[in-house]
Amino acid sequence: MHELALARSLTEMVDEYAAKRGVTQIKQVNIRLGTLSGMTRALHFCFGSASKGTSCEGALLNIIEIPITLYCRHCNDVKHPSGRYNFRCPDCGMPTPDLVTGRETELVSIELYGTNCLASEPSYTNY
Ligand SMILES: [Zn+2]
Repeated sequence: MHELALARSLTEMVDEYAAKRGVTQIKQVNIRLGTLSGMTRALHFCFGSASKGTSCEGALLNIIEIPITLYCRHCNDVKHPSGRYNFRCPDCGMPTPDLVTGRETELVSIELYGTNCLASEPSYTNY
């Protein structure tokens, strides 16, 4: 249950961040999720249960989905594959093992009640 583990680590991180600043209620959590992680919906669902009893309870989880891009050495350019499991260059057909984006899980920002800032702090990537 990878989604739940991710949701938990996400809420823990946000909760810790909030605690350090004496904040008890988070308004919104913004994260970037690569298409390849394939767990947008599940994460929404898990976030609800993982956040119970934390400062994230009732917070809005905003997921910014990042499409897959690949680097084709043959074309010397970044390409957008036609499908999630199609790791070939759409133009020249060569295999493109170099994933540029699409796998990231990254906490972008946390919005607290009473402020309109926030924090591009703690950024993390979880493969
Ligand atoms: Zn190519």
